[in-house]
Amino acid sequence: MGGPRDWEAYEPRRPGMIRRMLPMLLAFAVILGGLAYLGGDLRELLGTAPGSPRSAAATHRLYEETGPIDARCGTLPRNLDADARTSLKALAGCLDRMWADTLAKAGIDYAPPEEVRLIAAPEAAACGIDDYDWAGIYCPDSRVVNVLVEDERAFPMMFTLAHEYAHHVQEVSGIADQRGSEAFDEAWSRRLELQADCLAAATLRIATPRRLESLRGFAGRGSGVEDGTEAGYRQSHGSGASSAEWMRRGQEGGTVASCNTWGAPAERVS
Ligand SMILES: [Zn+2]
Repeated sequence: MGGPRDWEAYEPRRPGMIRRMLPMLLAFAVILGGLAYLGGDLRELLGTAPGSPRSAAATHRLYEETGPIDARCGTLPRNLDADARTSLKALAGCLDRMWADTLAKAGIDYAPPEEVRLIAAPEAAACGIDDYDWAGIYCPDSRVVNVLVEDERAFPMMFTLAHEYAHHVQEVSGIADQRGSEAFDEAWSRRLELQADCLAAATLRIATPRRLESLRGFAGRGSGVEDGTEAGYRQSHGSGASSAEWMRRGQEGGTVASCNTWGAPAERVS
């Protein structure tokens, strides 16, 4: 907020005009100063802050202009656990198709992630190597989806893949651009993450409904113990109960609109 960047776009070109416009410019400076001073409160008041039903992220055309996501995935192997990598690759293909179709309805061109990395160790990821304990990560700069493959059971990794794909969709659609003036805000992060959980559930609801339900139950119960790492995770990703609730919405609603965390009141994205 403030600084030369805010001014550049409004700078009149002719010096004479500056004199004529001086009173207006001064008034504008006062408004800008007020904005800088009040920050989030004023954005809240104006309804443009994340979390307001009128914010840009909450009124994105994806919510209005797309219907239920066609989440069928005929290429998935019958036994998902026989070879987890085969299942993950098949799902990635389906997710590309689902999201291309869905975004097309809103007139948005979908480009698949630059790369889907199924990796054995975090060091092989395109970003986030120093971050703690992730099962998957999306790198917005390089648009690479990374999923750690270290389990025989395919489904938890499939959910992770669908969640990271949702981050890719937030990126290509511009939903993730709505960062406001803050560099990093945990409430913003929770809305982003819970939306990704919800969209992941929407995309898996037809292929694996029962496994999705048990994962929801597992997320909702939580581990019961919370150390520092888990507390940090909850701050940035939301509680297990919130996650389970948004997964339920995605599974039952099946639309992007059912996953509009950006317009939800704060207590639903805690
Ligand atoms: Zn995430």
